[in-house]
Amino acid sequence: MSKKLASNTDLYATAEQFHILVDSVEEYAIYLLDANGTVISWNTGAEKIKGFSTEEIIGKNFASFYTADDVAAGKPQRNLREASRRGYIRDQGLRVRKDGSTFEADVIITALRDETGEIRGFSKVTRDITDQIRSREYEAEKIAAQKASKAKDDFLAALSHELRTPLTPALAAATYLQDNADKLPPEFVEDIEIIKRNVQLQARLIDDLLDLTRIARGKLHLELEDCNAHTIIKNALETAQSAIAAKQLNVSTDLKAKEFHILADCIRLQQVFWNLINNAVKFTPQGGQITIRTSNDRAGRFHFEITDTGIGIEPQRLASLFQPFEQADPSVTRQFGGLGLGLAISKRLVDLHHGKIEAESRGRSCGATFTVTLDAVPDGAAANGLNHRLGGKTSRPLRILLVEDHQDTRRTLSRLLTHFGHNVVTAENVECAIHLIGDDNIDAVLCDIGLPDGSGYEVAAQARAKGQIKTIALTGFGTEQDVQRSKEAGFDFHLVKPINFQELQSVLEQSNT
Ligand code: ADP
Repeated sequence: MSKKLASNTDLYATAEQFHILVDSVEEYAIYLLDANGTVISWNTGAEKIKGFSTEEIIGKNFASFYTADDVAAGKPQRNLREASRRGYIRDQGLRVRKDGSTFEADVIITALRDETGEIRGFSKVTRDITDQIRSREYEAEKIAAQKASKAKDDFLAALSHELRTPLTPALAAATYLQDNADKLPPEFVEDIEIIKRNVQLQARLIDDLLDLTRIARGKLHLELEDCNAHTIIKNALETAQSAIAAKQLNVSTDLKAKEFHILADCIRLQQVFWNLINNAVKFTPQGGQITIRTSNDRAGRFHFEITDTGIGIEPQRLASLFQPFEQADPSVTRQFGGLGLGLAISKRLVDLHHGKIEAESRGRSCGATFTVTLDAVPDGAAANGLNHRLGGKTSRPLRILLVEDHQDTRRTLSRLLTHFGHNVVTAENVECAIHLIGDDNIDAVLCDIGLPDGSGYEVAAQARAKGQIKTIALTGFGTEQDVQRSKEAGFDFHLVKPINFQELQSVLEQSNT
């Protein structure tokens, strides 16, 4: 790379030609240094990039383009020595402009020698690559963020699977005991309720984490139907009944809206009301008052309002309550548990329904009011599906094949299904399940997805081939993808662990038709 020049005079002559040649270049600073690093030529690009005019810089040492740290570390002279030794060097790093600001530079320094091999000077080409580096960093950050987000989602899905698996047998056992409460000493009955309630709470927390991921990725789909908001509110209230009784709260309801049918996803709407009721119960001390009202405004919209006499919320915290993981006052709320996801999810759900959710409070200890406003539909006709209650025998016993490798789940679920009035045969792997489908007169297959010798999809395929057999996937994975995959694999229904027995019963009833 080094060029041979005849003499100093030649060097200056060449520098002049070089100057004319490169002066029009604006994107690159192109200039010459003498052997000591003194600037002896300067082009338009150099002026533009570094901010010095030709008059200002000629005769100055090029070290002034380096940062103070680099100068202190002897980098300018080291670069020249290195260029002399190797012919040229390429360097990337921060350089300083006249005004003291810095930029990311890509620099090539080439040694210029005379015919005796003596170093006569250096040519220097500098490019400002700040934008390039920024966009490269931005891309890298974007890719890293995408990877992190995917890893987080995968982790949440795997975690929720692991957490859900042990909940099913616990819930099935508690439900069975509860349904046989008359055979138990009365002092145990309440304990069963406690077990059940806490298992359900645990399941709720897992669901919240997954919901948040789904919402964040825009993958939460609403199943819109005609919902009776008053029924939904009553159902939600009922699930909080034991906590209300335990705290001796006084709950009054005044459901006076005339238009209370809403085009909505009933389950999601119940989740919103449930969350608000649950919060009111959670944050109101013993003996407090909770009031639930509904009304219509002039535009016919439906208003839900829940007021409590609880711990209240400081005004400056009201705005952030609907952000994920926000808790009004960690020191106060820590004792109440929770992840701070409920309101964030409720807000997103209400937004998806084109409604509004708001919080009001006059401050600490002054209680709180939450309101939800939704469009009502006049006189809804369809009955909503949330009125079913658990319990009671099935209308027609089914022969059910339960395929599950988790022993506790197999045992407790099989006992509960038998208790519901069905005949149950069990299999713990694909081979055994396929064998039973071939031999037995099976009406419905309830099947885990991950099995030791294969997957539940194989069992579903076999059942489908037989025709007439209803297939229900049981899985700890609750992501949209899993539901989609299970549908594609031919399952008629997809139930996520811990199984909601009300939902299971309703699915089995459908198998009965
Ligand atoms: P979590 O209840 O799991 O913490 P939420 O998102 O449901 O999460 O609520 C967020 C925070 O809002 C709560 O931690 C609490 O500080 C505050 N909050 C919600 N409802 C009430 C209420 N009725 N009274 C007082 N504070 C409330």
